[in-house]
Amino acid sequence: MTARILVVDDIPANVKLLEARLVAEYFDVLTAGDGYQALAICERNQVDLVLLDIMMPGMDGFEVCERLKANPKTSHIPVVMVTALDQPADRVRGLKAGADDFLTKPVNDLQLISRVKSLLRLKTLSDELRIRAETAHTMGIDELLRSGEGRGDESGQVLLVDGRANSQERIIKALKPIADVSAISDPQAALFEASENPFELVIVNSNFDDYDPLRLCSQLRSLERTRFLPILIITEQGDDEMVVRALELGVNDYIVRPVDPNELVARSLTQMRRKRYNDRLRASVKQTIELAVTDPLTGLSNRRYLDNHLSTLFSRSMARGRPLAVLITDIDRFKQVNDTYGHDAGDDVLREFANRIRSTVRGADLACRYGGEEFVVVMPDTSPEVAATVAERLRSVVETTPFQLKSSGQELSVTASFGISSRISSVITPGQLMKQADLALYQAKTGGRNRVVAAA
Ligand SMILES: [Mg+2]
Repeated sequence: MTARILVVDDIPANVKLLEARLVAEYFDVLTAGDGYQALAICERNQVDLVLLDIMMPGMDGFEVCERLKANPKTSHIPVVMVTALDQPADRVRGLKAGADDFLTKPVNDLQLISRVKSLLRLKTLSDELRIRAETAHTMGIDELLRSGEGRGDESGQVLLVDGRANSQERIIKALKPIADVSAISDPQAALFEASENPFELVIVNSNFDDYDPLRLCSQLRSLERTRFLPILIITEQGDDEMVVRALELGVNDYIVRPVDPNELVARSLTQMRRKRYNDRLRASVKQTIELAVTDPLTGLSNRRYLDNHLSTLFSRSMARGRPLAVLITDIDRFKQVNDTYGHDAGDDVLREFANRIRSTVRGADLACRYGGEEFVVVMPDTSPEVAATVAERLRSVVETTPFQLKSSGQELSVTASFGISSRISSVITPGQLMKQADLALYQAKTGGRNRVVAAA
């Protein structure tokens, strides 16, 4: 994993020490001697993670962290605060400032590398989503992301998997101000609960007598429905081996017994916030993709989607020697509808026409609005005869029942013309297939409209 890490500490010897350890793991390392320098570097360079000392003259680590998290250009960079061992309150303050994790001085090599790697893995996922969302030029993604921020105060949904009743009680009590906790002592039942309910965090206490808690963690990571669910594991003091294996399995964070209630609250909040952020990103990427391939008026696929998908279907049909048919239809005298009844009426007709196409074509057929009042249906595995039957059925469905204009309540008789073409030996590109259907449509129009013509 190559990544650029910024080490910030006011004592040059500390910087050198961390730098040497990270360089030995092939990380690219930048260094800063104070907070101002650190902020400037993050602003100007691509930094993947910051290791941040707390006690520094001028601006301390808490303030640096707060400023990084408040700046949209740097808020996604994970921050690991380096605290003194005898200052447990620093941890909570650091997490409240938005820190993603912390290490205690003197920094233990194992912890340094495992935490850095685990945070970088998480960041890779967020970055990928962020880039996809940005590339898609989504409208108002920032607002979308910010819109969920108010939820930070809302009660979270936590599943606690804990083998002991008294420790369940303590944890439920500690988390009461921030979360509704469902406690369960059977790990297999927990797996079922986690996949069936909208939890935002699973806390696994490793206090089972005869069960390896990492088995549950691994199962949670491999199930589709719980793949993105954050996991926090509670481990025994000094059980570094379990921590390393847990982080490698994709467990998001750990906390060591005896559990400090403040730390538990702060870490749980961080995980739930991160999940909400990623959920919003994922939803917005999905929405962006849907918008990019959907016609907003009719909800059918748009021309961009058709162009992509038709070439896939065409190649497949060639490769398998299976038939493929295309139907192009155009509403007859549509301009008159707009001119006589207005554009709202025109939109009503387009929507209703799309609905009739949708309810008439078969499941495997792809229906699109091609532009204006022109629609295309691609029919895989369909012979010319069957394609003609589908087209004729659609023609009749349009002609038989008048269209209701929502805007005025009036009824309107509508007809449409249809051209169909099939992939035969002389048609060797998707473009030719479309062209043939278009020519047939032209013949249907010139032949008097309201009819189906198949390409010769
Ligand atoms: Mg210092």
